[in-house]
Amino acid sequence: MTARREPFFDAWESASEATRRRVIRKRLSEYVGYARRRAPFYRDRLSRFKCGSEQPLAEVPVLRPDDCRLLLPPKSRRLVVGREAGWTVFQSGGTTGFPKTALFSHSEMEALYLPNARGYHAVGLSKSDRVANLFAVGQLYMGFLHVHRALEAFGCTNFPFSNHTPAEFVRSCARLFHINCITGVASVALNCLREMEKLGMRGVRIEKLYYSAEHLYDADKAELRERFGVRQVATHGYGTVDTWYLGYQCAACPTGVFHAHDDQVFLEVWDEEARRPCAAGQAGMLYATVWSRRLTPLVRYRVGDRARWLVDRCPCGRTTPLFELLGRGDDILRIGFDSIDYGYVQGCVSRVPGLLGSVQMQKQREAGRDRLVVRVETLARSKVRPALAAALEREILSRRPTLCRGTAQKTVWPLRVELLDEGRLPRNPRTGKLIRVIDDR
Ligand SMILES: [Zn+2]
Repeated sequence: MTARREPFFDAWESASEATRRRVIRKRLSEYVGYARRRAPFYRDRLSRFKCGSEQPLAEVPVLRPDDCRLLLPPKSRRLVVGREAGWTVFQSGGTTGFPKTALFSHSEMEALYLPNARGYHAVGLSKSDRVANLFAVGQLYMGFLHVHRALEAFGCTNFPFSNHTPAEFVRSCARLFHINCITGVASVALNCLREMEKLGMRGVRIEKLYYSAEHLYDADKAELRERFGVRQVATHGYGTVDTWYLGYQCAACPTGVFHAHDDQVFLEVWDEEARRPCAAGQAGMLYATVWSRRLTPLVRYRVGDRARWLVDRCPCGRTTPLFELLGRGDDILRIGFDSIDYGYVQGCVSRVPGLLGSVQMQKQREAGRDRLVVRVETLARSKVRPALAAALEREILSRRPTLCRGTAQKTVWPLRVELLDEGRLPRNPRTGKLIRVIDDR
C-alpha cells in the first residue's frame, strides 16, 4: 500500500517528466513481454512492438470489446494467463445475449485501492467523512465491491447501501449518523437526493458527492449545488470494468477533465482515420494498455470513448498528464448530414434555466428522413413548458447550420423537443443509469 504524502496521495503524482518517461517505458516493455510469454493470444500479435520508438504500440493491432467477448470465458480462455481459477467474474455492459465478462484476480481487486484512494484524496475525501456508498452491486456488477474495500482502507466511516436501498432508509440513516458524503453512479446518486427531498431534507446535509461510471453534466452539477447545497461534486475515477481506472479528477478539474493514472495504464489517443496518434488538443479514440491487469492482459484495448490530451499543466501542481473526455464514440447521432453529440445537447440544456440535466436524445427514421428528438426532465409547471421547449429548440438550432439547412430543404424532419416530469425518462432497471442515446436505425 502506498504511503500517503500531503498534499498529494502519493509521490507518483509529482514525479518529474524524466522519471515518468523512464518508468512508463520500462513498465510498458515488461508488460508486453509478459503478455507475449503468458497469454497465447498475444504470442504473434505483439511482434511489432517497437520498444525504443516514440510510439511503441503504433503497429500493434487494436483489441476491441467484441474480440474480448470471444477470448474470455464463457467462450474461451485465450486471454487468460495461467490454468488455475481463483478470480472474480464481473459483467461489463453486455445486456443482450450472453454476458460480456471481465475477470479480476483477488490481488487485482486489492490493487484497485491505489487509483480509488488517489482519486478520492484528490477530490477532497477525508477520513472524518461519513460516506454513503450507492454503487451497483449484485448481478455481477463490480463497482460497489471495490469501492467498499477502498473506502475501508482509506479510513472513513462507511454506509454500504448499494443502489438497492430505498431513499427513505438512506435518509433516516443520513439523519441519524450525519452522513455528509454520497458516492455512486451519477444518476443513482442524483435520484436518491431527489427522492430524499420529496420526503423532506430536515436534518440531512450532504456536502460532497463523488460519482463515477457515468457523466454528470454542468446542468446536473448546478442542480446539486443550488437545489441540494452540495459543495463538492467530482469524479474520483474514470474507468471501465473492461479496463481499470484510467483517470481521476482533482478539485481544480473542470467537468470532463482528468489526470491520467499513467503509472497503471498506458493511454493513447489515436486518430483512426489518419492512423496516427493525435497531437495534443486533437480529439481521437482512447486506447488503454493496462499494466495492472495480469490475469487477462490488455494491450491496446479500444475503450470506446473519445478524448484529447491537454497541453497545460493542472493548477493543482500534479504532474500526471491531463486529458479531456469527449463522450462515448457512440454518443453521437447522425441526423441527415449533421453529427450531433450528446454533450452538445447537454450544453444547450444547461443554458436554459428551468430544465434538469436528465436528457435523452433519439434518432427516429420516418419515411426515409431522420428526426432528432430531445427529451428533458423538468420541474416546471405545464403552463410554462411550451416556452421552455421553444427556448431549448432555439438554443440547439442556433449552432447547427447543417441541421437547419436539412430541415429547410426537407431532407430531415424538424427537431422535436419533449419535456417530461422528473423521473420519467427511462433508466436501466438494474443499474439506474439513464438511457441517454437511442438510435432507431
Ligand atoms: Zn489537478
